[in-house]
Amino acid sequence: MTELAAEKIQQNYQVVRERLSKAAGQTGRDIADIRLITVTKGHSVDVIRAAYDVGARDFGENYVQEALAKMNELSMLGAQWHMIGHVQSRKAREVAQNFTWLQTIDSLKLAQRCDRFAFESERILPVLLECNVSGEASKQGWPAWDEDRWLSLADELRPLLELNNLEVRGLMTMPPYNPDPNAARPYFRRLRRLRDFLSQQLAQTEWKELSMGMSHDFETAVEEGATMVRVGTAIVGVRGPA
Ligand SMILES: *Cc1c(COP(=O)(O)O)cnc(C)c1O
Repeated sequence: MTELAAEKIQQNYQVVRERLSKAAGQTGRDIADIRLITVTKGHSVDVIRAAYDVGARDFGENYVQEALAKMNELSMLGAQWHMIGHVQSRKAREVAQNFTWLQTIDSLKLAQRCDRFAFESERILPVLLECNVSGEASKQGWPAWDEDRWLSLADELRPLLELNNLEVRGLMTMPPYNPDPNAARPYFRRLRRLRDFLSQQLAQTEWKELSMGMSHDFETAVEEGATMVRVGTAIVGVRGPA
């Protein structure tokens, strides 16, 4: 497959910005409160650069080695790198040292390792907790589909908030795939309710961020309170072989 030309990427980026701005406007939200993350897994540095040139500053990557290779090759002032794929604990050091954000904390063990490596690099790593709000077995994340168990989930999460070099900023989710943009709404809504619940139970941190919504359903996510949307295909096209 051939990659999209820079012009096409720039056009796509503008279209997505417009859709985002419209969705924000219709729900009375300020677009400045919603971060557009351009997801570039499987795409080259030229593609990333084309998006950067038209204004993209937040980039999402899923695979540690692939992302580090690209980061080394690019030097883009002000770019923020978000780890949005599953992180094995043996990769914790590389993630904690190189990414701006880690969106996929799904265990205390991973959190503790990232905290240690962030401490060693003298930084505070902002993180999101990945939550499974659908119960779909293939999904990563803290089990959060059953609201009756949120209280015990809050207890499980308590130790994460005591890690000095991690800053828990909110939640992230990836609902079951469904091409219908409305299908994910109940899951987005549940994530937002969980966020509100945790901000009452664990008030020592702010729980501001909700990372939810992708190319086909980010407008729905914005309507349900997303503060970060992760958009790949609609900006950079279909990805090549990983
Ligand atoms: C690939 C990916 C996206 C972007 O998906 P698109 O449908 O291409 O917009 C968002 N979030 C995660 C976690 C992903 O892996």
